[in-house]
Amino acid sequence: MLKKRGKLIVISGPSGCGKGTVIKKLSEKIPFWLSVSDTTREIRDGEIPGVNYNYLKNDEFLSKVNAGLMLEHAAYSGRAGKITYYGTPKPPVSAHLEAGENVLLEIEVQGAGQIKKALPEAILIFIMPPSMEELEARLTGRGTEKPEDIKTRLETAKTEIALADSFDYIVENDRVDVCVEKLVEIITK
Ligand code: 5GP
Repeated sequence: MLKKRGKLIVISGPSGCGKGTVIKKLSEKIPFWLSVSDTTREIRDGEIPGVNYNYLKNDEFLSKVNAGLMLEHAAYSGRAGKITYYGTPKPPVSAHLEAGENVLLEIEVQGAGQIKKALPEAILIFIMPPSMEELEARLTGRGTEKPEDIKTRLETAKTEIALADSFDYIVENDRVDVCVEKLVEIITK
């Protein structure tokens, strides 16, 4: 008998909506493999190559796209208006799903749309911040972006929120524990 494939779970939401914290808490409740994305953005203080992201140069990233090695990819608002690419490497995702493990992708909305087209069985979940004011407060509070980049990310957030209806589920992240419980329910049902 064929071994059951794992579930592909996609979590998106505006930068600063608390996806990272939610995913960390979710990992204490249900087993999944968290995909490590490729990016062309600069490494942030405290990030570890191969753990948070694989940090690539533009030409390295684009040649992987051309070689068909990315499951999805997107250009996202980078620092000082610079185009920054993010993408999900295909081979590890396929390997973990085939091994029967759940795989979780934490990606932005354009990429989530590409995943749904390629793999309709994927479960798409949008994490909604309680308000734009709260989102701005969280982005400012975490101190990883310059004020002008926060402005760009807030503009991007509006576009992303407008696309939330295309997701299978929208879960508000007002209280982290409540949000995580809802995710467990969605994923395990
Ligand atoms: P950050 O620069 O804050 O780490 O990430 C910026 C945005 O890129 C976040 O919304 C994050 O979810 C998204 N992102 C991270 N990895 C990927 C990926 O592999 N593909 C896509 N499409 N978006 C990603």
